[in-house]
Amino acid sequence: MTWALLITLVLVLGIALVALIAQRAELRRTHEGLEERSRARERGSHAARLQYPVPDLAKCIGCGTCVAACPEEGVLQVIHGQAVVVHGARCVGHGVCAKECPVGAIALTFGDLTERRDLPALTPDFEAVGSPGLYLAGEVTGFSLIRTAITHGVAVARAASERVRSSDVTPTSDVLDLAIVGAGPAGLACALEAKRLGLRAVILEQERLGGTVTSYPRRKLVMTQPVELPLHGKLTRTTYSKEELLELWEEVVREHEIEILTQCNFTGLDRSPDGNFLVYSSRGTLEARNVCIAIGRRGTPRKLGVRGEESSKVAYSLMDAQSYTNRRILVVGGGDSAIEAALGLAEQTGNQVTLSYRRAHFNRLKLRNEERVHEAIRAGHLECLFESQVRSIESGEVELELGVGDTLQVVRIPNDDVFVFAGGLAPFPLLESCGVSFDPADRPPAEALSDRGNSLVKVLGAALILALAVLGWIVAYGSYYDLSPAQRLGAEAHDLLRPGGGLGLAFGIVGASLIAINLAYLPRRSPSIRFQLGSLQHWMSAHVLSGILALVAVIAHSALQPKHTVGGHALAGLAFLVATGAIGRYFYSFVPHAANGRELQIDEVRARLAGLTAEWDREKSHFGDRVRREIDRLVQSGQWKSGLFQRVLLLVTGERRLRRTLRRIERDAVQEGLAGDQVSELLVLARRAYREALVAAHFEDLRSLIASWRYFHRWVALLMVALVVIHIVTALQYGSAFEGGN
Ligand SMILES: Cc1cc2nc3c(=O)[nH]c(=O)nc-3n(C[C@H](O)[C@H](O)[C@H](O)COP(=O)(O)OP(=O)(O)OC[C@H]3O[C@@H](n4cnc5c(N)ncnc54)[C@H](O)[C@@H]3O)c2cc1C
Repeated sequence: MTWALLITLVLVLGIALVALIAQRAELRRTHEGLEERSRARERGSHAARLQYPVPDLAKCIGCGTCVAACPEEGVLQVIHGQAVVVHGARCVGHGVCAKECPVGAIALTFGDLTERRDLPALTPDFEAVGSPGLYLAGEVTGFSLIRTAITHGVAVARAASERVRSSDVTPTSDVLDLAIVGAGPAGLACALEAKRLGLRAVILEQERLGGTVTSYPRRKLVMTQPVELPLHGKLTRTTYSKEELLELWEEVVREHEIEILTQCNFTGLDRSPDGNFLVYSSRGTLEARNVCIAIGRRGTPRKLGVRGEESSKVAYSLMDAQSYTNRRILVVGGGDSAIEAALGLAEQTGNQVTLSYRRAHFNRLKLRNEERVHEAIRAGHLECLFESQVRSIESGEVELELGVGDTLQVVRIPNDDVFVFAGGLAPFPLLESCGVSFDPADRPPAEALSDRGNSLVKVLGAALILALAVLGWIVAYGSYYDLSPAQRLGAEAHDLLRPGGGLGLAFGIVGASLIAINLAYLPRRSPSIRFQLGSLQHWMSAHVLSGILALVAVIAHSALQPKHTVGGHALAGLAFLVATGAIGRYFYSFVPHAANGRELQIDEVRARLAGLTAEWDREKSHFGDRVRREIDRLVQSGQWKSGLFQRVLLLVTGERRLRRTLRRIERDAVQEGLAGDQVSELLVLARRAYREALVAAHFEDLRSLIASWRYFHRWVALLMVALVVIHIVTALQYGSAFEGGN
């Protein structure tokens, strides 16, 4: 008895300690996540450009699989135990987060499209709304990535093929089935699929095969996800160098005799009297029954519009950094392309590279690029002029304007080459002239995110049916199960139903097998184990189903009389495990949801504060900035007192501190001569931010309490598996003698 007590005490203490340490680590991570989110908001990198993931907080169980699965860093983070978008602008639409989420809580979306005038109105087949036979594919539709472009190209070729087949017009040799504009991955895939389907197709390309990939820096590693390239097969590797990918595409084009008209600039479209398209280009006019426009979104490079820009030393892309050595180079821009070019050039012998960026800091950069550029600046390999604009370009130097407002100054720096990465002028006017609408009213409504189903309904239904079947079995043999252990020995059904033989043993074997299946979810979920069979959502369903059924099977195995043996304790552990699993799966999400909701409100208050105070800063010397910092300090102190005692103390003293701070702000504001109504609005906002922070902190306490399920779930699982193994080994060793005694 004392042994059991001591062991229990040690176990409880051990679990409590580990749970506490883990909880503290999670608090720290949440704090870091919140700070990162504030930074992202300040820099504007929180807002996505195109698609971005939207976690459904009512479903998210905070497992972090999405964070680990995302190939771009920092898009998602777990905050308050749930996935939250932090750097939305870093999302390029891989969609792995949505695919890997075990509970289907993430959807990729464009968000609210009602105001967007940069996305074409297309049918699900990529056909321009109101223009039959005119299709768009690839990045021009708003979706980036090579894999997506290929998928779009294939879908368009199939839709065009359907249209050709369903038409009763007799084909003539001078009319193409499909004219494709753009030889990037979308156009190429479209042409290959068209060839496979027996269509007559031609690609019109203003430059050369490869699209945007051709302008990647030399040897840049391209990340793709496995995708089927028609007539070639699967591109199975996840990374290719730019050169490998282009070589592969050139080979496919040669092998399948894909017709590409290079140096052919597409200029517009018309309809011929018989409904075909007249496709205008710098190399003449073609007639086609269908057109696929796959011209990407980069359009023509945006120019700076400064004196001397027409000089031959100015370029708008960089192919090969290695051919530049011992040069004085200016790179203009602050996006990933500019940073990659500047870093590539700075690595070459003897180059002096200066980066000119018009903003005060980088935003929307990939995390890796951001880290690398700051490292290069720190190490002196690269000079970066923030808040700078080029004024003129001359033969041996460039003139730049530095700073803003009163601090403006003009500098001249020696220079041999200028690379401009100021984005592109989107090809939207050309598309509009072809009949593509960008009117949000023409776009089919986006699928409502709340409509997503829950696969667990099926799982629970199946578990219920099987559990009922076992219950039916037990009721049918109720006359045996109602007997005492001693009476059972003489019963006729004993050999069939006892744990160690017949069906009782079969139930045990089924239970152990289900536990093994249940545990296989863990390696599948682990980002470090490359075991990719089936989707994680199916594995999660299998995890839930096998857990419940294992409990049912083990109850039947125990013949409804679990003893104080290792097996009996394993059964108790399994029951506890199922209970903690249910808490985690269904109840855990509610509280963090509330905490994240509060955080969003705090963010909203901060944004309003920033709006209000930015106006003052234009006139008064950084007063608004000071107020914001003051309030942020107040909010932070309300949130992150990690010890219980400190939190109670904060509750007691918080109101007084809040009043004191607000009085001071008010006094200062009056001295600065700010309008009375502005000051009262500020004080209301400050009070609201502080109160939201306090409530969020309380949710955090509650969440920590509920979050304990996770640790219990893990540790009880470990204990239960150990007990099951001991039970099986002992049963195998001692057979039925064991059944009666231990
Ligand atoms: C720096 C950088 C790195 C990237 N890295 C990756 C990565 O690692 N993995 C990944 O999956 N994606 C990456 N992408 C995105 C990827 O390159 C694009 O999503 C993809 O190339 C889009 O393919 P597309 O065929 O739609 O368009 P594009 O590749 O842009 O091709 C469009 C083609 O149309 C031609 N064209 C345009 N206008 C006309 C006209 N008027 N007449 C005739 N032809 C015209 C262009 O010359 C071009 O060849 C990256 C993009 C950039 C900029």
